[in-house]
Amino acid sequence: MSNFKPSPRSRIAQIGHFIDPEHGAIIPPLQFATTFARDENHELIGNYLYSRYGSPTVAQAEASLAELEGATAAQLYASGLAGIVAICESLRSGDHMVMPRIMYHGAQAWMKRIAERRNIGLDVFETDDLESLAKAVRKGKTRLVWAETIVNPTWDVLDIARAAEIAHEAGALLAVDSTCAPPVTTKPLDLGADIVFHSATKYLNGHSDLTGGVIAGREPNAIWEDVAQTRTLLGSVMAPFEAWLLMRGLRTVFVRFEAISRSAERIASVLESHPKIERVLYPGLASHPAHGLAAEQMRNGFGGMMSILVKGGEAEARRFASHLQVFLPATSLGGVESLCEHRRTVEGPSSAVAPNLIRLSIGIEDPDDLIRDIDQALEQI
Ligand SMILES: *Cc1c(COP(=O)(O)O)cnc(C)c1O
Repeated sequence: MSNFKPSPRSRIAQIGHFIDPEHGAIIPPLQFATTFARDENHELIGNYLYSRYGSPTVAQAEASLAELEGATAAQLYASGLAGIVAICESLRSGDHMVMPRIMYHGAQAWMKRIAERRNIGLDVFETDDLESLAKAVRKGKTRLVWAETIVNPTWDVLDIARAAEIAHEAGALLAVDSTCAPPVTTKPLDLGADIVFHSATKYLNGHSDLTGGVIAGREPNAIWEDVAQTRTLLGSVMAPFEAWLLMRGLRTVFVRFEAISRSAERIASVLESHPKIERVLYPGLASHPAHGLAAEQMRNGFGGMMSILVKGGEAEARRFASHLQVFLPATSLGGVESLCEHRRTVEGPSSAVAPNLIRLSIGIEDPDDLIRDIDQALEQI
């Protein structure tokens, strides 16, 4: 028995593997304290000083996430964007960074802004063509390659191992936003990435009731401490209650993601032959250009994100979305409830997204209801 080591899947179901020595409670308590006492020699009694630097409930969630990612450490942030801001803060004037041409819109807006204000060189690459990454990096000058898998909203797949080779040859770190391919299915650090990032708001929490971000890595890496310091100085650390809620969500991340993937695979294949749909973008479909790579790299399901191109144009797509009854018309993704969104409306006029594209985030409802809902909405356009 002494050698028995449960898998990450079992460990996350019993997060913290906790039994309260005083009461026998099996769920970890929530520690709200902002400040932590010293002993008679003025030494801190425990490992904590002040909540902006970190606190017990946050640290417990971080330890679970690090384990899930195969990382040595994780840092939790008040939002995904706050984590991205902290990573970008490690860049100095004159440095160079590379990002995908199509990626999460909010993060891209931040990267453009900081590059312009701080005189950081910024080039783009295509996720589905890593020759373009090899051309975009500058040896000895590029500090950071930011990449995303799977890419919102085309659901292209990043070849993480190849991207890591290219980044490392140039002397850069590879950070992968794996929000839509959570550690249930993809482990970027195992494939050579230096940092994995998630908006914890999405699949990791999975209940659309907290905002958070996490970065995980293997120490030492060139920017880890610097990024942690930025979090402390900015106070962008996640709050204890959010960390506790996140652990609650994480307990079911495997079953949620697997159920969602099963539903989504079925829905995508039914929709693909619908006469009012021009195209379905879903990496689980053999017709998706990145399906081969997805099948190799997404070990436990293709997830719940897909885009459908409605026949006609923007008007038809928007009319379709407005007639959906089970899908909720809202942004965000990765929750237990299915959501739909006309992506171009959200991204604004600068958007590179096709005008007839509707993004769907599949939840855990009855997949037959979701298919019937899409059918009836398509009939009404
Ligand atoms: C939502 C999202 C983010 C930003 O995270 P927030 O929690 O909204 O700050 C970053 N990347 C991807 C892929 C996302 O979906």
